[in-house]
Amino acid sequence: MPEPLALRDLLALDRQHVWHPYGPMPGTATPLLVESASGVRLRLAEPAEGQDELVDGMSSWWSAVHGYNHPVLNDAARGQLERMSHVMFGGLTHEPGVRLAKRLVDITPEPLQHVFLADSGSVSVEVAVKMCLQYWRSVGKPAKQRLLTWRGGYHGDTWQPMSVCDPEGGMHELWQGVLPRQIFADTPPAGFDAPPDEAYAAHLRELIGRHADELAAVIVEPVVQGAGGMSFHSPGYLRVLREACDAHGVLLVLDEIATGFGRTGALFAAEHAGIAPDVMCVGKALTGGYLTLAATLCTTAVAEGISRGELPVLAHGPTFMGNPLAAAVADASIGLLLSQDWAREVRRIESGLTEALAPAGELPGVRDVRVLGAIGVVQLDHPVDLAAATRAALREGVWVRPFRDLIYTMPPYITGDDDVARIGAAVCAAAREG
Ligand SMILES: *Cc1c(COP(=O)(O)O)cnc(C)c1O
Repeated sequence: MPEPLALRDLLALDRQHVWHPYGPMPGTATPLLVESASGVRLRLAEPAEGQDELVDGMSSWWSAVHGYNHPVLNDAARGQLERMSHVMFGGLTHEPGVRLAKRLVDITPEPLQHVFLADSGSVSVEVAVKMCLQYWRSVGKPAKQRLLTWRGGYHGDTWQPMSVCDPEGGMHELWQGVLPRQIFADTPPAGFDAPPDEAYAAHLRELIGRHADELAAVIVEPVVQGAGGMSFHSPGYLRVLREACDAHGVLLVLDEIATGFGRTGALFAAEHAGIAPDVMCVGKALTGGYLTLAATLCTTAVAEGISRGELPVLAHGPTFMGNPLAAAVADASIGLLLSQDWAREVRRIESGLTEALAPAGELPGVRDVRVLGAIGVVQLDHPVDLAAATRAALREGVWVRPFRDLIYTMPPYITGDDDVARIGAAVCAAAREG
């Protein structure tokens, strides 16, 4: 074992050498050093605002749905580690990869039958886009190569995904003019329970119809737009997209990377609309937050179309494709999820957050409070003061990571009622001081 580094040295090295998400170099804010994590608690190397343990309100960006250091997932990782942590997927295969693919086919909408295992969410979106473009090329319609999405979305940080992220005020505004130019519909009207707006539905249909000749696919996040603004919309719009795509010969891609595995109260958010996409991406909670893994699923029609082409293969193959360690943990994580009444836990967190976040609605500077499934959002009428909001939550012993005008939480499903209440109180405190 290497000598442990002193905390001060670690933080100095971090600042000098290590990029963090959306961070400057050298770093300007000092990150908290996490020593270990267990259940819903993060243990810090040094107390922050008097707390040496924090209740995790983020599930490490939607992923750690079972909490940290879970015995079932630890066993799956350990068992696989002793067999092999990795072998290449070209010319070789392995049980964890096959089992996981079969399981994904079994639990996702019926028409999705084929699975590409990718190493991150963004890569799975790249693969989804490549599948769609290649499908149309293979069936003799190479002009169909653009994408349509609605504003307010987020699909990842690599090139194709960036081109379908919200083009304004989002994280990739810098690249307008360099990215492929896609077609944007207006942001869907807000509200999961709001009756679908007929004018907006007509707008979607009109745009898809007008651009059908050049459109390969429509790609959206179903029901919840995550990093693009944490907003919820009526599942009715997904049915509108499905019908318009069918009517005009356009593929429908659903990005369930954030919404998948129960977060919105349905196992996959597409179920709220009762529709199936042609291509679907999953990631984030796929491994229960243990390892990086994502998947792109497609229908037999898409796969057969690609196979009919001049180049009858999907030319994509990351080095760590189908990583056995990640696949074994993912299979165990899905098994663990399905072995319990996860929907009841999500509903329990939904009512806990609804109650605990209600006081935020009375605060000056708060524009909206909304909860759907195990997701709670407080939207301010101004950009959040990240340092002040973080400090306020830390004083309550809770970890949240606000962005833009949003203070939000998506706790692990195992979070107990007291901890849900505590997270809610911390979000309110952050909204008051941020
Ligand atoms: C996080 C996210 C991605 C990107 O996944 P990474 O694993 O961060 O590359 C894509 N789409 C959605 C909806 C996401 O929430």
